[in-house]
Amino acid sequence: MDGRFEVVFLGTGSPLDQSGHRCGAGQVVVAGETHVLVDCGWGAARRLRPSGIVPALIDVALFTHMHTDHITDVPDFLFQRWTSGATKPLQVFGPEGTAEMMEGFLLALRRDIGYRKAHHGDKLHPDGIRAEVTELPVTKRPATFLELGGLRFESFEVDHYPVVPAFGYRAVFEGRSLVLSGDTVFCETLAEAAKGTDMLVCEALNLPMIDEVIAMLKAAGREREASLLGDVPSYHIETNEVARLAREAEVGELVLSHLIPPVLNDSEREAAFVEGMDGIYGGRIRVARDMQRIPVTKRA
Ligand SMILES: [Zn+2]
Ligand SMILES: [Zn+2]
Repeated sequence: MDGRFEVVFLGTGSPLDQSGHRCGAGQVVVAGETHVLVDCGWGAARRLRPSGIVPALIDVALFTHMHTDHITDVPDFLFQRWTSGATKPLQVFGPEGTAEMMEGFLLALRRDIGYRKAHHGDKLHPDGIRAEVTELPVTKRPATFLELGGLRFESFEVDHYPVVPAFGYRAVFEGRSLVLSGDTVFCETLAEAAKGTDMLVCEALNLPMIDEVIAMLKAAGREREASLLGDVPSYHIETNEVARLAREAEVGELVLSHLIPPVLNDSEREAAFVEGMDGIYGGRIRVARDMQRIPVTKRA
C-alpha cells in the first residue's frame, strides 16, 4: 500500500510583486492515491505538470476563501484536468461564495467547452469538465466533510476579516496530521485545530520587509500602492506570531508558504524572512518553494 502523505507546493507567494519565482497560493495534498488541490491562485495550474502531478488525478478541490490570489487559475486547472483525461466531475468544497465562483468561471469557459467538444468529439469525456460544489458550514472546531481513500479532511473558520467566511483545513491520513492555515491573523480556532499536529503549513508576513517595500514605493512616488500595502498586515499573521502559535499548539514542524512579501528563492533571503522565529518556536521551520514536495512525518 502506498502510504505517502505529502504536500506539493504549487504556489508559495502572495499578490505582491507578481514575479515568476513564487506563484499564487496552491498546493496538492497527496495521500496514497488520493490527490486534493487546495486553492488555485495565479500560476498554480502551470506548476502541476512540472511538479509531477497529472491534473486528471485530482478529483477534489478545496478553497480557503475567495481572494483572487487563491482562485484565478481555476479555469486553466479545469481545462488541464479535462484534457489530461478526467472522466468524473470535480468535487469542490469551500466557504460560501465557492458555488458562485465556480459557476462564474464555467460560464466564462462555456463557449470554449463547446468548441473543444465539437473539435475533439468523444476524446474528451463530457463529465470531465463539470464540477459539483458543496459549500461548507462555518465551524469554530474542525468538522469532517470528506473521507476518501483513508484521507479525512476537516474545515474550520479562521480570521481573515473582512473576508468572511475564510477557512483553514486539517487533514489526517494513517495516523499523521496536517493543518493548512489559509489566510488569517493569529486566532484561537487555528491554534486549536493545530494542537499537536505533525505539520502546520502557515501563511506568514514579515513586517520589517513589508515596511521596506512600503518605503521603496513611497520613494518612487507610488503613494497609493504604498497606502494599500499599509492595509495588508491587519489581516495576515506576522512571522513571530506564527512561531508563537506553533509553540502554543506544540506542532511537530512548521512550513511557511504564502510569503508576504514573496522573497526570492534564496536561502539568505529566506533566512532573513524567518529571523527571530527560532527563538520562540523550537521545532523545525522551513520556507516552502514552488514545486517542492514536503512529506508529513510523525512528530518525534
Ligand atoms: Zn486572502
Ligand atoms: Zn492570499
